[in-house]
Amino acid sequence: MARTVLVTGGNRGIGLAIAQAFAKQGDRVAVTHRSGEPPEGLFGVRCDVTDSASVDAAFTAIEAELGPVEVLVANAGITDDTLLLRMSEEQFTSVLDTNLTGAFRCAKRASGKMLRAKWGRMIFISSVVGLYGGPGQVNYAASKAGLVGVARSITRELGSRNITANVVAPGYVETDMTAGLPEDRRIEYRKAIPANRFAQPDEIAGVVTWLSGDAAGYVSGAVIPVDGGLGMGH
Ligand code: NDP
Repeated sequence: MARTVLVTGGNRGIGLAIAQAFAKQGDRVAVTHRSGEPPEGLFGVRCDVTDSASVDAAFTAIEAELGPVEVLVANAGITDDTLLLRMSEEQFTSVLDTNLTGAFRCAKRASGKMLRAKWGRMIFISSVVGLYGGPGQVNYAASKAGLVGVARSITRELGSRNITANVVAPGYVETDMTAGLPEDRRIEYRKAIPANRFAQPDEIAGVVTWLSGDAAGYVSGAVIPVDGGLGMGH
């Protein structure tokens, strides 16, 4: 059955691959974008997840065009890496505001309609770094670890209403976010990954579409690594 899906940050990178995978299987897909035009063939809504009014307006526009959001993929995220000693409070809180509070704003807005429908899927895009840690990533790791608590609390709150909430934790993926890594760091990271390569965005998308489908109806509160074995045991 076709569903209405919202992918935040679905205009590029992992989010775009996820949105395209849902569209390919016949779902009604909306993506958020902050500037420019949305990708061709996808319904775009302008939205900044750090602003509740903007999130509310985006959901209202999607509801009018495609119907209530049944599958939420909270994917929008940023990094602002620096060592702890140098990290300003603003650098810490702004990453939390986008990656963690942004996901909360979307989940909260989605939950009312999911409760009414007695069906919903929430998928939070975390990172291997959330549980593994990363030097220079105190802010990012905290935000990504926080998503685990969010998904598990939602599972306990809404699980009896046929609403699942899960976390997908990618390792290194070839996108704009990792494109700027210096070659020596890429080589060093690759050595630590049993698969000996970075992921392609559609390798994350396959897990997300599976989680939103009927076959995964009894999977909730899970943290699913998609990291080539990098974070095993964490
Ligand atoms: P990109 O940097 O390629 O894309 C980030 C996306 O998030 C963009 O669509 C961007 O929109 C959107 N975004 C950022 N801030 C906001 C905001 N305030 N409101 C709305 N949208 C926003 O990142 P990736 O595709 O690589 O990453 C996607 C997710 O996957 C992130 O949560 C990231 O942390 C996570 N991840 C990525 C990994 C990787 O190796 N690439 C590894 C593990 C996790 P805009 O185009 O407007 O800037």
